[in-house]
Amino acid sequence: MERKEFIRKGIIGTITSYFAAAFSNKAEAAYKFANSGYRGVEGVLSPTNTHMVGNGFKVMNFFPNGKGFEERMSPFFLLDFNAEVDFPPSDLSRGVGVHPHRGIETITFAYKGGVEHHDSKGNHGIIYKGDIQWMTAGGGVLHKEYHEKNFDKHGGAFEMVQLWINLPKKHKMTPAKYQSIAHKNKPKHTLPHNMGEVYVVAGEYKDVKGVASTFSPIHMYDIHLNPGADFSFSLPAHYNSGILVVDGNISINGTDAPENHYVQLKNETGDIHIKTNTKTTLLVLSGEPLNEPYVGYGPFVMNTQEEIHQAIKDYNDGKFGFLAD
Ligand code: MN
Repeated sequence: MERKEFIRKGIIGTITSYFAAAFSNKAEAAYKFANSGYRGVEGVLSPTNTHMVGNGFKVMNFFPNGKGFEERMSPFFLLDFNAEVDFPPSDLSRGVGVHPHRGIETITFAYKGGVEHHDSKGNHGIIYKGDIQWMTAGGGVLHKEYHEKNFDKHGGAFEMVQLWINLPKKHKMTPAKYQSIAHKNKPKHTLPHNMGEVYVVAGEYKDVKGVASTFSPIHMYDIHLNPGADFSFSLPAHYNSGILVVDGNISINGTDAPENHYVQLKNETGDIHIKTNTKTTLLVLSGEPLNEPYVGYGPFVMNTQEEIHQAIKDYNDGKFGFLAD
């Protein structure tokens, strides 16, 4: 064989056997997990392009994302993730000005930085690392969200999630309310062998009950793991379930899910097996689907078009209250 030909064959041979080995490992892992009572991974969504919400939140939108995905994750309707970004010091207030909501709950998770909230029911809160603000818009509320003043002044690392949960038809017009969930008040399950903590925001994890009240059955966990964590848990098969990898990297039932990716799980029984080799933060969402018609229009999510028209009219008539800019 000529030298050139030998090199070509040699390189291709090496590449081919490399991929064959990688593929057979993957195929083996996939086979193992598909045949041993583990819940299937439906897909891993890559980070999307980011857009600004107001001038304070630089988010990627995993759903609805114009793909009808909100139905797949019902009752969860919107998932915006501000992956870690550095904001420079600012004399201006950064955030989102006064706007209405009806028919949903909006939940903000602070991972890094500080966020302040005001609404037309007179609620006010400031959240920092680990804290959560859970606003039920219900029949209607005005709110604004912006960077906490001191954070504006000094700038720094900022990382947040905003989640919208659709309300069931019978609770659409519930009076607006606000749950302030401080990190120190989140019930937790401590994993063995220094693997980390599962903070139970809503629902239950094993025998630990969550702190938030919800209008439809939901399990929501804020999970913090150390490198080398290796554990399993399960969620109801018919609950729509997904995991946002906020920080770090995981392997979930044999599938790799890097930082800033979103893992959609299949609706089937089976354990969810997580392994880490970095420090990792996960947000686990799992909820019973509402199975009701819905119409989303900007900040309103209702069941019919007429109800959307009514929401716009009520907002224009000042029925959502008043909140100063
Ligand atoms: Mn809002």
